[in-house]
Amino acid sequence: MTSERVLKAQNVRWDISELYARHDDARLEADLQEALSRAEKFAGNYRGKIMAEAVTAEILHEAIVELEAIYGKIYQPEIYAFLAFTADTADDATKALYARCQELMAQVQNSVLFFEIELQKIAPAAFALLLATGRLETYRHYLEGVRLHTPYTLSEKEEQVINKKDLSGKHALVNLYTEYTAAFSWQLEVDGAVRTLTGEEVRNLLRRPEAELRERAKRAFDGRYGENTILFTNLFNTMLKDHALEMEMRGYDSPIAPAHLRNRIAPEIVETMMEVTSAHNHLAQEYYTLKAQLLKLPKTRGCDLIAPVTAQREVIPFADGKRMILQAFENFSPEFNRLAQQMFDRRWIDAEVRPNKRGGAYCHGTLPQHHPYILMSYNDDIDNVYTLAHELGHALHDFYASRKQTLFNYHPPLVAAETASVFAEMLLTRKLLGEVKARELRIAILTGKLEDFFATIHTQNYYTRFELDAHLQGAKTRLAAPQLCELWTKRRHEMYGNAVDFLPEQQWYWAAIPHFMHTRFYCYAYTFGALLVLALFNRYEEEGKSFIPRYIELLETGGADSPENMMKKMGFDLRRAEFWENGFRLMGSFLEELQTLIGK
Ligand SMILES: [Zn+2]
Repeated sequence: MTSERVLKAQNVRWDISELYARHDDARLEADLQEALSRAEKFAGNYRGKIMAEAVTAEILHEAIVELEAIYGKIYQPEIYAFLAFTADTADDATKALYARCQELMAQVQNSVLFFEIELQKIAPAAFALLLATGRLETYRHYLEGVRLHTPYTLSEKEEQVINKKDLSGKHALVNLYTEYTAAFSWQLEVDGAVRTLTGEEVRNLLRRPEAELRERAKRAFDGRYGENTILFTNLFNTMLKDHALEMEMRGYDSPIAPAHLRNRIAPEIVETMMEVTSAHNHLAQEYYTLKAQLLKLPKTRGCDLIAPVTAQREVIPFADGKRMILQAFENFSPEFNRLAQQMFDRRWIDAEVRPNKRGGAYCHGTLPQHHPYILMSYNDDIDNVYTLAHELGHALHDFYASRKQTLFNYHPPLVAAETASVFAEMLLTRKLLGEVKARELRIAILTGKLEDFFATIHTQNYYTRFELDAHLQGAKTRLAAPQLCELWTKRRHEMYGNAVDFLPEQQWYWAAIPHFMHTRFYCYAYTFGALLVLALFNRYEEEGKSFIPRYIELLETGGADSPENMMKKMGFDLRRAEFWENGFRLMGSFLEELQTLIGK
């Protein structure tokens, strides 16, 4: 194994030359030009025909197939530019290419925009007849999705006015929020010297072992939002009012209704999920009581939620991480192993740590006719092994979906987009817990997973409850800063009970959540996605191998059906509380194991 102890994934670089040889490859320019001219021709051929009475299922089918082909043409250069740019952000040539691709992409989108607008204008009875021909069956879900917003769409003129006024209204406020908060910096004493830190750097201090440093960091970070209370209270109230006015004009019956439409989920399903989650807040309370013991503190404080509980982390070189993941996949299905192995063998992964590489990690699989690529910076610890497993999970989803789906049905909606990735993490967790003997590493794995779950499931649930409270009350009357803080701490208390002592500055944290500003009711998608996977994984463990073909069928469906229908085909009913309880059973078993391990 010594020969493989190469660190920071040195030389694990991808080969993207199969897309294009270079940024100035003549084929790339030719593809861009072809996309543009085909988009113009598409508009010439179909404008006015889609909403015409004479439209047939055959015409619609032909148009959708052509539209997918046009997007395929424009995406390929864009993918190449994106990959090259993120792998080396200092390369001016790819930067320019990426900007140009985005510009041309917008041009193509504008040319074909009329298509979906016209689709919305087909009368309901005529649309039903078109679907009844059976010719459009493969695109049924896509077509229904386009028409979902029809009842809430205003006249073309009114929509144009809203779009224009949003530029100086809602969008301008989001920009103000983003720029203003991005410019925040903090002066903090760290390791004996006073440093000027960005928000990201202050947040990272919460992962440091020194309890006193964490407290100073959290007080400074959240306190900054409290110092700007006039700004944030005004921004927040304006967004509440803007949303309320728009809901009224469009005729939605609840502030959360547009989010359900976007996610293609029935409101009752989300309500059930949220109730079951709230009923399991005791898990978070038991965990954070236990965490105080691990941290050797009398009580967990609000600045300790993600504090490390073990001392040194084990070094895991890339080759070892890769082996762990492939074995975990092999245990589930040899085909999983084979598909993931391909990603390594054919050099579709860029994991090397290098200067000028973009931070974070992604799996890019935009086109079903092309395999995905993974980018990450592998830093030799267990977190990185998890990141790699997560991205390989996305890649598997792409491989399976590409077997059955074309572009418009390829990607699942937000609430189901993380299914395969989180499932892959669970496969890795199960394998590691099966073999790792070292107590410290076992504790690190269990606490890491549990904290992930609390952050994505319970925390997002209380965020959503707070947001709903604020919208329901803020639609009627302006909410003063203390009222917003009170709504916030009330919902927070429901989750943590008396298990955590929050710092006074943390009452302002609602102002630090960007989702509340940029997309209303975005947060519950995290709860939904994570619980869905936990429930699936729990069923897999109870049921064994017979679960696998159904799971693969789910991945093959991609985005061709609603989450509810996909689950129904697997024999699950999202409307029943029992489905969601599956996930909490699994969390409960992790918590029990942790309790045994630390001898509580
Ligand atoms: Zn992901």
